[in-house]
Amino acid sequence: MKRPILIHPDPRLKKVCDPIPDLSDELRKLADDMLETMYDAPGIGLAAPQIGVTQRLIVMDCVKDDKEAPRPMVMFNPEVLQSSDEKNVYEEGCLSIPDQYAEVERPKIVRVGWMDVNGNPQEAEFDGLWATCVQHEIDHLNGKLFIDYLKPLKRQMITRKMQKLKRERARV
Ligand SMILES: [Zn+2]
Repeated sequence: MKRPILIHPDPRLKKVCDPIPDLSDELRKLADDMLETMYDAPGIGLAAPQIGVTQRLIVMDCVKDDKEAPRPMVMFNPEVLQSSDEKNVYEEGCLSIPDQYAEVERPKIVRVGWMDVNGNPQEAEFDGLWATCVQHEIDHLNGKLFIDYLKPLKRQMITRKMQKLKRERARV
């Protein structure tokens, strides 16, 4: 089931999300809904707070080539364990900040730990777009958006555009 995506500014996007102590069928269903919502958008990542659930859960799939098989990933309680000194700059966007893009610098390679859908601990290294995406999504769980890396003026400009967009949508 597709879920509505919250648009910035929203207090739920600024919250530090709660850790997930135990998996349940309800949480697995939530992860499925998030993947469906993400693919439909379309986007390459989605964090639970973006659909108003302030728990530590993210989904992503950075396979962009249609000829390649999709690689959906579901991560409960994801955590960056190690970051490279080497940095990478990507033009980032966010499903909660539609049609706004800006360059953000982040570590190029990160090692991430998480719990998978079966409740097993997992660990893997991410590079390139995957590394950027996983860091962007984990930021969401800490109430941080990619625009928080931008200069205040640029951030305010984007926030005003989003306020206007929300007013327009509310009127429809
Ligand atoms: Zn985002």
